[in-house]
Amino acid sequence: MVQSSLLEPLPSRKRVSVLLPLPFPCALDYAVPQSLADTLAPGDVVVVPLGGRRETGVVWEETALPVDLAPPPPPEIAASRLRPIKERLDLPPLSAELRQFIDWVAAYTLAPPGMVLAMALRSHLRGEQTAPAVGWVRVGEPPESLRMTPARRAVLDALPQGAPPVTMAELTEKAGVGVSVVRGLADAGVLKSMLMGPVSPFAEPDPFHNPPVLEGDQATAATGLRARVEERVFSATLLEGVTGSGKTEIYLEAVAECLAQGRQALVLLPEIALSAQWMDRFARRFGVRPAVWHSEIGQKARRLTWAACEDGSARVIVGARSALFMPFRDLGLVIVDEEHEAVFKQEDGVTYNARDMAVVRARLAKAPIVLASATPSLETLNNVETGRYRHLVLTARHGGASMPETHLIDMRENPPPRGLFLSPVLVEAVKARLGRGEQAMLFLNRRGYAPLTLCRTCGHRMECPHCTSWLVEHRKKRVLACHYCEHTEPVPHACPTCGAEDSLTAIGPGIERITEEARSEFPDARIMVMASDTISGPAATAEAVGRISRREVDLIIGTQIVAKGWHFPHLTLVGVVDADLGLGGADLRAGERTMQLLHQVAGRAGRAEAPGEVLLQSFTPEHPVMQALVSGDFAAFMAEEADQRKPGFWPPFGRLAALIVSSENADAADNAARQLGVSAPHGNGVEVLGPVPAPIAVLRGRHRRRLLLRTHRNIAVQPILRRWLGQVTLTSAVRVDVDVDPISFM
Ligand code: ADP
Ligand code: ZN
Repeated sequence: MVQSSLLEPLPSRKRVSVLLPLPFPCALDYAVPQSLADTLAPGDVVVVPLGGRRETGVVWEETALPVDLAPPPPPEIAASRLRPIKERLDLPPLSAELRQFIDWVAAYTLAPPGMVLAMALRSHLRGEQTAPAVGWVRVGEPPESLRMTPARRAVLDALPQGAPPVTMAELTEKAGVGVSVVRGLADAGVLKSMLMGPVSPFAEPDPFHNPPVLEGDQATAATGLRARVEERVFSATLLEGVTGSGKTEIYLEAVAECLAQGRQALVLLPEIALSAQWMDRFARRFGVRPAVWHSEIGQKARRLTWAACEDGSARVIVGARSALFMPFRDLGLVIVDEEHEAVFKQEDGVTYNARDMAVVRARLAKAPIVLASATPSLETLNNVETGRYRHLVLTARHGGASMPETHLIDMRENPPPRGLFLSPVLVEAVKARLGRGEQAMLFLNRRGYAPLTLCRTCGHRMECPHCTSWLVEHRKKRVLACHYCEHTEPVPHACPTCGAEDSLTAIGPGIERITEEARSEFPDARIMVMASDTISGPAATAEAVGRISRREVDLIIGTQIVAKGWHFPHLTLVGVVDADLGLGGADLRAGERTMQLLHQVAGRAGRAEAPGEVLLQSFTPEHPVMQALVSGDFAAFMAEEADQRKPGFWPPFGRLAALIVSSENADAADNAARQLGVSAPHGNGVEVLGPVPAPIAVLRGRHRRRLLLRTHRNIAVQPILRRWLGQVTLTSAVRVDVDVDPISFM
């Protein structure tokens, strides 16, 4: 054993903080055993005792956060009470950049930092037993300043430049030295650890493989984005353009620039858009498929992808929101496509908005970020307005394809026959398209057969026993299902209240019911139904999309999964069954969201030569959303939205944070909500609304109350929330979920 006295005196550590992937409020302190005193560094993955268990965590270090976000320092623990770290694992350490990002997300969302770490480590730690071995390679000559001891010389002799990686065990045995010597040389930048295992399965995308020909505003936008990537500093750019204008094509040019620089790029897409269609497109441009990251990929791929991202061999990662927590070695560009999408907000576990946190990640990486959308959120438009983001606009569809013509069907004037839901005007239009051999689509954002089952005799409504919600009939499965929990029950023959037989009636349409109607109206059409419960996961979705592209389908009937960026060249008519559907309720963004969703659905029509048409069935054709969809003037619509939100300091002109108090016991929920209400902060620019029962007052058997903190934009909500929550002592029967920047108000 070579003594560590042979090493330069490094600042030796007696205690360190270790962040565990568990819901503690902060990292825990541990004593550093002698064997690790000189080499243990922040980011190292270590095993520590916790109670009677062993837990794996990461050596942590306080990171610099904006004052508003920084949590209070944890209480100091006497050195005598510290337990020692058990061992350091031979896994690549977590980079300072990723550690800082984790602290940032935790501080911003008020989530326990360990829970954010858990998202970053999930595959890392699970892979522990079978993780590919870590190997050591020589990456340089020792600097002049490094004293050349015999032990160090032995290691250098054992591992010359260009030699294949060897494990720590092999190296220390061959050189006859201790582990600390190798680590010391790594710290001096002479050696480097890397994951061995199989060669990275991710072939390198070639930025020059198949570049598009760009002209006009496409060329301007691509040049602009390339310049941002070249700068190697943080910047944020909104890339705005109607569907089919070439946004994807253009941001791939930014990716090409990033690849040419030898750096890594991250592309975030809504999970559902992570389709084979998108991957093929990437492969056409760069010659190979990118590494993907989403909920469906298997354990093995997960491990390989994580490792390849960490060692830099996966050059482009395309993923859903969780890809934000990947261990990039040299992140040079972040793209968020469909930035306006609500699915970027994770609602359970750590409540964070991946779009917003992507901006943070890019800033920490000193890299540019591009937010792409045909219908940008008001938040992002406001950031453009105030000069925080740059703006690039693509004005027309590529290749001369025109935007679809949008028309309203006033359902008061053209009602469907009793008990049906398709206006004769829409039926005729579909027939005409099908007659010409073109494809048509009917869109209704509601799964199942009918949203409400009602007793005609006594008026009883079938409700979920665990939630404040109506049960939705799924006729094919012969059940009534709650769309908020897993509850299902068979459709009863008799009313559970009055006992009347055959008195239960389906009220309103879901897509199953529209399909039934379509089958009778268009008996010869080949119909495909696309909903998240009939087609689940990227693979099945890709299959369905492929069949549509190959014209094996005449009529598509779908929920919002059809709205994503699909390219259906033969689709020329989109009929929206209930354009008013999203406008009810108390959601502050109801109008904006409806406009975004319907515009995106409309964008599926007429993407090739044949001009497209969109028909909106509406009972409120005069509504600003309907008018904006017809005129296509979204800028005016969003300006109007902004004017409505400004006076009340609604986002993005103010800040919101929601507290959701919940308990299995209604009184406990009320008491806690009342307590929070009594101690609510107030002051200039700070206001609390509520407590009120949540719109879904009972969810999965838990009674829910909401409070909403609203502040002026220049007042951060985090310190206010910390103080507020710190004042109230709650019983264990009550849970309070914090949702910073809420987008769901249910
Ligand atoms: P968006 O992302 O704005 O909806 P896309 O990038 O998907 O638009 O472009 C729409 C279609 O036009 C795609 O099939 C794309 O390949 C094609 N396209 C766009 N720009 C070009 C170009 N400059 N050269 C060739 N094809 C292009
Ligand atoms: Zn339920």
